[in-house]
Parts: sequence; C-alpha cells; structure tokens
Amino acid sequence: MRRHLVHAVIIMTAQGHLLFSVTCTLIAHKLQLTPALADASLWQTIPAALASALLPDLDHPKSVLGQRLPWISKPLSRLFGHRGFTHSLLAVVAAVWGLNQSLPPGTLPVGVKDALIVGYLSHLLGDWLTPAGIPLFWPIKRRFRLPGWPLRSGGAIETGFCTLTLLVAGWWCGWRL
Ligand SMILES: [Zn+2]
Repeated sequence: MRRHLVHAVIIMTAQGHLLFSVTCTLIAHKLQLTPALADASLWQTIPAALASALLPDLDHPKSVLGQRLPWISKPLSRLFGHRGFTHSLLAVVAAVWGLNQSLPPGTLPVGVKDALIVGYLSHLLGDWLTPAGIPLFWPIKRRFRLPGWPLRSGGAIETGFCTLTLLVAGWWCGWRL
C-alpha cells in the first residue's frame, strides 16, 4: 500500500500527460516553434500530440498503452526497464529519424509530424517535473528532475497543475483553434 502511495506521487499519470501535451502544443503553436507548427491547425496538431504523449510509457507493461500493447511493452520493459531509453533524448532522435523515414513530406497534414514530437517531448518534460526524473542522456543512468520543488504527482496537485497550465496556455492563445 505504502509502496503504491510513494509510486503515485513520483510519476505523472496518463491523464496528467494528456492534459500537459495539449498545453505544450498550444505553447509550441503560439511560439511558432517550427514553421510547420506555425502554419498548422490545432484541430490536427492537438490530436497528434495526444496520440504520442503516452508513447514513452510503453516501456511499462502496466501503463495505459503497455496494457494494450503487451507485445511491445514487455520486450521494451525487459530491455531497458521503466523510464530508461524511451525517456531519453536518444529516443527523441530515433523518433524523428523514424518519422522522416516512414513518412515522406506531404504524407501527413502540415505540422502533424512536428506535433507528434511535441507530444512525445511533453511527456519527457512532464516526467522531468516529478521527483523520479528522467535519464535524459541515457545510456548514462543519471536522472534529471526539476530542481527545488518537484511536482508531487498522481493526485489533486498534479490535476490542479495540469489544468491550471492548460487554462493559462489556452488563455494565452486566445482559445482559437
Ligand atoms: Zn513516463
């Protein structure tokens, strides 16, 4: 019981990651992080970010996606453990390379490929905020986390934080989809 409680406050939940991916997409769009994102419609980029926001946790068989795709998550978990390779910059580079190889320009609406990466990065950023941190430079094992006041996630504080940041980002963007 206690172990569950401790686990719950050091990792971000799927719901938190999904909310946070929308926040990050709104911010990336507003900041025009890439030319494609600047031109893209949020109606297309937000679903793309939501689709990729839970992918890093595929390395955990009990995660939302891991339970649905055990044939991917079990080998990933065995190979790298939870919060290993999939939570690193190397995985982001591999994802960008894989997307560019499998989806030539013009295959997806403008900005969707970038939004998939934003969704993935939002997951890493979300986990970075929590006490467990992420091994950003995997295979180096050192974990990085928000210094000072990491987010005690998995409960009302996480939901409040994710909702509040989403509301602020939405307000900043003028609620225009
Ligand atoms: Zn994670």
